Parts: sequence; C-alpha cells; structure tokens
Amino acid sequence: MWLDSTLISIVKETKNTWKFVIKVHSDFNYNPGQFVQIKFNDLIRSYSISSYGLEGNVFELLIVKLEGGKMTRYLFENTKEGDKLEIKGPLGKFILPETITGDIIFVCTGTGIAPFRSILQRLMDNKINHKNIYLIFGTREKKDILYFDEMNNLENLINGFKYIPVLSREKLEGKSGYVHNQYLDLIKGNKLKDPIFYLCGWRDMIKEARVNLKECGFDSKKIKLEIYG
Ligand SMILES: Cc1cc2nc3c(=O)[nH]c(=O)nc-3n(C[C@H](O)[C@H](O)[C@H](O)COP(=O)(O)OP(=O)(O)OC[C@H]3O[C@@H](n4cnc5c(N)ncnc54)[C@H](O)[C@@H]3O)c2cc1C
Repeated sequence: MWLDSTLISIVKETKNTWKFVIKVHSDFNYNPGQFVQIKFNDLIRSYSISSYGLEGNVFELLIVKLEGGKMTRYLFENTKEGDKLEIKGPLGKFILPETITGDIIFVCTGTGIAPFRSILQRLMDNKINHKNIYLIFGTREKKDILYFDEMNNLENLINGFKYIPVLSREKLEGKSGYVHNQYLDLIKGNKLKDPIFYLCGWRDMIKEARVNLKECGFDSKKIKLEIYG
C-alpha cells in the first residue's frame, strides 16, 4: 500500500548528500534500521530511514546524488518542500535483536550510515541494554564525512560506543585507509565479544567485508547485510 506523504524539508548535509524530511499522513511506526520505498512515475527506489523519535509521523532520509541516477536526479533537481510523495513501508529486517548479548559492529560507507544513526538514536533515547558498539564509517575525503560532530558527541552519551571514521583519500588524525582494516584490527586484537556485524552500503564494500568476516570464522547468522545496489 502506498502512503500519501509530504516532503517537508530538504537540507544539504554535503554537496551531494542531502537530507529529505518526510511526513506521512497516516500512522507510521518503524523499527530503526528499516527502509521505505519511494515511487515516482514507474520508478521505485528504497531508502533507509536515518532518524528516530521525531514526532508526527515524520522521518528523515539521507540520500546521495548518483551521476546518471534516475530517482536521485528527480529528488535533487525536481522536488521542493511541500511536494507530495508516495511512500511504502516500513520494510526490512536490518534491525537489532530484541536482546543484545554481544558486541555490535556497524560497518558502512557513505549514506550507509543512515540506518545506524536511527538505531543509535533509539539506543540512546530508550536506554536499551547493550555491550560495546562500534561504528566504522568510511568515505573518501573530509568534506564527505556525514554526522561527524553528532557521532563524536554520541561517544559521550552512549556507554561503550566507539566511533571510527576512516578516509581513503585523505588523512584523519594522521591516518587513512578503508573500513576493512578497522574491523580486522578489532578482531585481531581480540577486542570483540560474541559480535554481530551489520554491513550497509554499496555492493563491493559489503562483498569484501563478508568474505573477510567469513575467513575470520564468523557464521553468516552473525553478519547482517543491507546492500544499496
Ligand atoms: C534497502 C535499500 C536501502 C537503501 N538506502 C539508501 C539510502 O539510505 N541512501 C541512498 O543514497 N541510497 C540508498 N539505497 C540506494 C537507492 O535505492 C538507489 O539505488 C540509489 O538512490 C540510486 O537510484 P537512482 O534511480 O538515482 O539510480 P539508477 O538510475 O538506479 O542507477 C544509476 C547508475 O548508478 C549506478 N550505481 C549504483 N550504485 C552506485 C554507486 N555507489 N556509485 C556510483 N554509481 C552507482 C547504477 O549501477 C546505475 O548504472 C538503498 C537501496 C536499498 C536496496
């Protein structure tokens, strides 16, 4: 069922990654980590919900403009605040277990941070019991980092939360690299207890991470995937 909704604001997070704030005109309850679909003519695309706890059936999406992308061209070039949208959802099972018994490792690149932001906000707001939580976020350059201040701030607000940003084309605090070295370092340093890995972003990163984790001996049940394309 397609739900009537309105685009209530558009905010530039970086040059190519914008936040789209949407209000659904009916009850809309979701579990953080889930996504919605947007329909425009015959195009349907999925987007993770990046917020949690906003009042009035409102939620945020974090969307990157793709060169030659049909839906993103429409969203970035042809929509404005107040426009009507058709939304389906919430959908998906990329959510936390009901009881968290081990460490959680979120691994993402670019807008793949969206579902993790929603999950972290809920963990904080609802004071959910958890063990250590790592957020490994990769992008190319400093100008592309998403929610840098917010994630640094969450380190002070969520017990056992560690934010690990990493850049592939510039240095951050003297270091650069890819997300893969970061979780492999945690594994090799025996820092993780009964971990569940959540991987989110584009296919190549997820494929490589999945192979690495399987080689380290982790069962598929402990590796959750949200593949963007
Ligand atoms: C469950 C789910 C959740 C998603 N959540 C988000 C989200 O929160 N934010 C978000 O931005 N996207 C998200 N996506 C991706 C989104 O659904 C679209 O695929 C994306 O916006 C591109 O759509 P488009 O119509 O603009 O491009 P299309 O017209 O479909 O494709 C344009 C071209 O870009 C290519 N392409 C695909 N990926 C990339 C890439 N990484 N870099 C360069 N070119 C690429 C395609 O192969 C194609 O050739 C999600 C996807 C899924 C399945």
